[in-house]
Amino acid sequence: MPGYNHLFIPGPTNVPEKVRMAMNVSMQDMRAPDFPELTKPLFEKVAKVFRNTTGRVFLYPSSGTGAWESAIQNTLKPGDKVLMSRFGQFSHLWADMAARLGLDVDLIECEWGEGVPVEKYAEKLKADTGHEYKAVFATHNETATGVTSDIKGVRDALDAAGHPALLMVDGVSSIGSIAFDQDAWGVDCAVSGSQKGFMLPAGLGILSVSGKALEANKDAGFGRCFFAWADQIANNDNGYFPYTPATQLLRGLDVSCDMLLEEGLENIWARHNRLATGVRKAVEAWGLRVCAADPKWYSDTVSAIVVPEEHDARHVIARAYEQYNTSLGTGLAKVMGKVFRIGHLGWMNEGMVTTAVSVAEMSMIDVGFKIEPGTGIGATIRHFTDTASQSAAKA
Ligand code: PLP
Repeated sequence: MPGYNHLFIPGPTNVPEKVRMAMNVSMQDMRAPDFPELTKPLFEKVAKVFRNTTGRVFLYPSSGTGAWESAIQNTLKPGDKVLMSRFGQFSHLWADMAARLGLDVDLIECEWGEGVPVEKYAEKLKADTGHEYKAVFATHNETATGVTSDIKGVRDALDAAGHPALLMVDGVSSIGSIAFDQDAWGVDCAVSGSQKGFMLPAGLGILSVSGKALEANKDAGFGRCFFAWADQIANNDNGYFPYTPATQLLRGLDVSCDMLLEEGLENIWARHNRLATGVRKAVEAWGLRVCAADPKWYSDTVSAIVVPEEHDARHVIARAYEQYNTSLGTGLAKVMGKVFRIGHLGWMNEGMVTTAVSVAEMSMIDVGFKIEPGTGIGATIRHFTDTASQSAAKA
């Protein structure tokens, strides 16, 4: 098909040209004497993106799932009781992993479209005077449903109960895109991956851990090898890795972190809010709704758009791909066919978002939705033009 394929899935996201070029280098010796010149400052830059000043960062040649596993294996013991909640495919998968690894999971079931049930967490933590829970887990941004949860609220619940449990957060589709502050929120393990806010191809599991998590590592009881922090630390301290690192991805990460820090995290969060609001304006104008059940849970990185019952969202996605060379995100598991997703995170601007919205609109019309052409995209444009001077002033 002529023209570019437009990528609006919530990861992998679009890779900036500068980052792509930085990765286009010959193979390198990862044991060369000057290799630490790349890696040592890189660890510091990545920690800045997480806002982590008390601990350290691990970079695995894996994906976000590997960083999930690393967080568990390196801080907890088999049989430890942990508090989790399930409200989408990714919170489901982390809970499933925790159970499969042998943790005793107290799992709160929520409707898909809701977020972390902070009040229920608060009650359970308060009641747990014997401090049986060793960790509390929270999926910051549930990518399957487009729901962002209140991580500071979870921290406050822990503090209010005077509870010492570790706070484990999945920030795979939030960190580097929407507000996240590891230090301020007392997050002990913050999990991410390379292919979303970090604007890289998939292939890195990124884990940022607090000083408290490093302490917990001393008593961790899981067998571990590939993800063992001790091996990483022994090598990383000298700028090396215990096995072959994904050097090209590290080169790309170096540039993408520079870009994130140069734009400024607050500016990035504001940009994502502006772009996401543009999408939500269209959804409202179409007479549809997003999956997030309450505005407090609206995600600024991904919108899951619920289609009317008589329609199958997969037809919209197929039409967008086949007719308009555009990738929209599919519904996962329970919401398969019921939602299509627009990923509006990472290297993204207004022109790209208007493309996503207009293709979604054209595709819905093509497959029989009763939508007047121009309604959704008109609302998006109106939002961007109404708020343009504001963002120009900011720039
Ligand atoms: N957590 C969330 C919120 C995700 O969106 C994803 C992937 O999309 C994952 C975890 C798993 O990450 P990966 O696919 O990189 O293993």
